[in-house]
Amino acid sequence: MRKHQTATAYNLMRTEQMFQRLYVSEDWSARRGRCAYCTAKMAREDATGDHRVARKHGGSVNRENIKAVCKPCNAAKGTMSEAAFKTMLRSPFPPPYGEAKLCAWIRYRLERATRRSLLRICRYAGLPDEAAA
Ligand SMILES: [Zn+2]
Repeated sequence: MRKHQTATAYNLMRTEQMFQRLYVSEDWSARRGRCAYCTAKMAREDATGDHRVARKHGGSVNRENIKAVCKPCNAAKGTMSEAAFKTMLRSPFPPPYGEAKLCAWIRYRLERATRRSLLRICRYAGLPDEAAA
């Protein structure tokens, strides 16, 4: 607890952190351990909570507002909106600003290409598509 905080504010913060961890864990499971942005596989303990609507724009800690994302994507997104970040990732052109955003853009492309290749291999080998997941 910090000096200027009241016990109630501290408890509220701790409760919010607890719920955020729960929502991140649930979203991580729902996405089969993949980042909501770049779709890279991540360990449950490496998943971080991204606020779809940033807290400073009125976003709160609730199930619909929290996504499980990898640390590099969370850092690269910064204060960008979810839509702007996704548009940047899907753009055929690399983002002209920032190494972190460029890395996220490359990660997204690598994951997508890997998934497509695995699907082709699975189909060729007569394996179910889920084998590529
Ligand atoms: Zn990511």
